[in-house]
Amino acid sequence: MRTPIIAGNWKMHKNVGEAIEICRQLDELVADSPVEVVVCAPFTALSALNALGLKKVKIGAQNMYYADQGAFTGEISPGMLVDVGCQYVILGHSERREIFKEDDELINKKVLKALEVGLRPILCVGETLEERKAGNTEQIVVDQTTKALAGVAAEQIGEVVIAYEPIWAIGTGETSDGNDANQVISTIRQTIAKLYTAELAGQVRIQYGGSVKPGNIAEFMEQSDIDGALVGGASLKVQDFVGIIEY
Ligand code: PEP
Repeated sequence: MRTPIIAGNWKMHKNVGEAIEICRQLDELVADSPVEVVVCAPFTALSALNALGLKKVKIGAQNMYYADQGAFTGEISPGMLVDVGCQYVILGHSERREIFKEDDELINKKVLKALEVGLRPILCVGETLEERKAGNTEQIVVDQTTKALAGVAAEQIGEVVIAYEPIWAIGTGETSDGNDANQVISTIRQTIAKLYTAELAGQVRIQYGGSVKPGNIAEFMEQSDIDGALVGGASLKVQDFVGIIEY
């Protein structure tokens, strides 16, 4: 049985005070939820959120570099994230791939390093609208998943969370329909089964992401292979995020 996981990706939103206020409220409101709840906040808020001693809500980051330390101006190391209480880190988000030109090789290095230091990666994969229209969705997600997981040991694969995020559905209000998302996610699970074993693939949690809201979350969560959601815009308001967690 896979524990559902709902993670908020705040992107470049919320100052420290706002982050504290939201996480305090959220921690109380979802205290009894059986769902694992993660907030991936901006780097600047992580330390303050850690100091709150949240009971239910776990803290994650939205990116990191793969080196331990050194002359990498502007970057954040995996150890720095652990130091401020992060348990998760989003890697390979389409905004990182598109805007910051992160490629599969870099994302793979980050995945390996995150696992090495005990951070659970939330690895994002997904196709563009053009790739979808060309009928290449499955090939794209298989390829991105395979490349990102290169070198990940069988003992570590259960720590990885994958987020299937069709890029055309992110922040657009458009969503994949539940069946369609489930189909792609089951292809991702089959890919993991080929790389490892069916048993291990059955332990990996795979989320859907892309314009998830309180009104459409149930459609995704009722699918056999969907284990949660990565939520952008709707995670910025406590009531909306709680509505999603309480699907
Ligand atoms: C995201 O950025 O990961 C995301 C899914 O955003 P939104 O929910 O706003 O589409």
